[in-house]
Amino acid sequence: MTLNEKQILFTELQARWTVWCFDNGYPIILAEAFRPTWVAEEYARRGKGIKNSVHTKKLAVDVFRTIDGVVTWDLEAYEPIGEKWKTMHTLCRWGGNFRNRDAVHHSFEHNGVM
Ligand SMILES: [Zn+2]
Repeated sequence: MTLNEKQILFTELQARWTVWCFDNGYPIILAEAFRPTWVAEEYARRGKGIKNSVHTKKLAVDVFRTIDGVVTWDLEAYEPIGEKWKTMHTLCRWGGNFRNRDAVHHSFEHNGVM
């Protein structure tokens, strides 16, 4: 699969997944999707990300879960949507499963980066 083919599939799946979230009572807010390389480098410098993030490849989206109209940072609130995301394709990864948990992060694996 070429990078563009992956980006197209990721975009379609995240759109279908976003609709699934709302249809199933998990309203979300779209936060960061594309991240320019210079921003990823700055995040890495601050210890808040990695330089070769899949955000720079347009293969990741960060979303905030809301409950009663308020953003929540409770990891458990992210589990249903993270688990759903993982069922949508074999390349789907959820940051809630990472060693350094990042529950807002939903991505496509690319060249070993999640
Ligand atoms: Zn992310």
